[in-house]
Amino acid sequence: MSAPTVQQALMGAQTLGLPRLDAQVLLLHALGREPHDRAWLLAHSDDVLDAGIQDAFASYVQRRLNTEPVAYITGHKEFFGLRLQVDARVLDPRADTETLVEWALSCLADTPTPSVVDLGTGSGAIALALKHARPDAQLCAVDASADALAVAQANAQRLRLAVAFHHGSWLAPFEAPNVGQPQHFDAIVSNPPYVASDDAHLAVLKHEPLSALASGHDGLDDIRAIVRQASHHLKPGGWLLLEHGFDQAHAVQTLLSNQGFEAVQSRPDIAGILRCTGGQWPTVK
Ligand code: GLN
Repeated sequence: MSAPTVQQALMGAQTLGLPRLDAQVLLLHALGREPHDRAWLLAHSDDVLDAGIQDAFASYVQRRLNTEPVAYITGHKEFFGLRLQVDARVLDPRADTETLVEWALSCLADTPTPSVVDLGTGSGAIALALKHARPDAQLCAVDASADALAVAQANAQRLRLAVAFHHGSWLAPFEAPNVGQPQHFDAIVSNPPYVASDDAHLAVLKHEPLSALASGHDGLDDIRAIVRQASHHLKPGGWLLLEHGFDQAHAVQTLLSNQGFEAVQSRPDIAGILRCTGGQWPTVK
């Protein structure tokens, strides 16, 4: 068979079951072009592909069919307008998480030089997006995975965004033994692991770090720990904002209310699913 054209290669990948957008992004990557350069593919649909590009594209298609995230194959992901480098050491940042960033920004809109911590930062997505949007904010980011912190730190350096990184479990780096005084924040934000450990959905996510995904029998172990710890690390009026699973909004609201949080509420993601829940630490207690 003669070498395929751009158009034929894309059709072939779709016949194997790849969505058109994935096929386009992977072919652009094989061609050494930017992911937003889809107009190029249209303009060059009759170009014949070199054997090397064909081989690279075929291997990317196979990896994607094996459920590897496109971002791991291309090595980067756009999040809140920032290009993050990502790989299998960190969760693939999802557009759903932009809900959390937008909500945090609106909570902090009237607070000058707010102090904010991102717990379980992974690639650094949330912390870096907040620092980019609010250069006056003091951003800390925590992860229990040294591998993840290396990815986040490299992203911060590349994007020239000043974030203080800490290795540890949730708010432990800000407890009295580790710092002179327990530290208090205007906002604590987190996209923690929240998938139940026996959830069949985890099989599809097999390329991503399990420690960033699974959290006990009901998926709420880490959220319970964060809610408990956050109550000791918020300034009066400070916000705790959490991302969670599609069916966890009510449970997370209950955890926050029981811990003494006020103004407890949830926000939908781009698919309309209640994806984030938060509350405010009381001003007078
Ligand atoms: N949103 C991811 C999923 O269920 C899970 C991310 C997480 O656990 N923080 O596909």
